[in-house]
Amino acid sequence: MTNTRICQECKTEIPRDARKCMHCDAKLEKFKEGGLPGWVLAILLLCLIVGYFIWVFESSYFPG
Ligand SMILES: [Zn+2]
Repeated sequence: MTNTRICQECKTEIPRDARKCMHCDAKLEKFKEGGLPGWVLAILLLCLIVGYFIWVFESSYFPG
């Protein structure tokens, strides 16, 4: 992962966390992370696994 990005205005490399461009002084949007954070996916996965084991446990005790 790189720590720089390209300014949309002047196309020069600037620090990833910069709020505005140091070259052309353009205001920049904060860098947006794509997708869900890793911990959200981990919790969802954990819920699925726990849910699956509960389902297996219940169906083995109450067959049919
Ligand atoms: Zn710029």
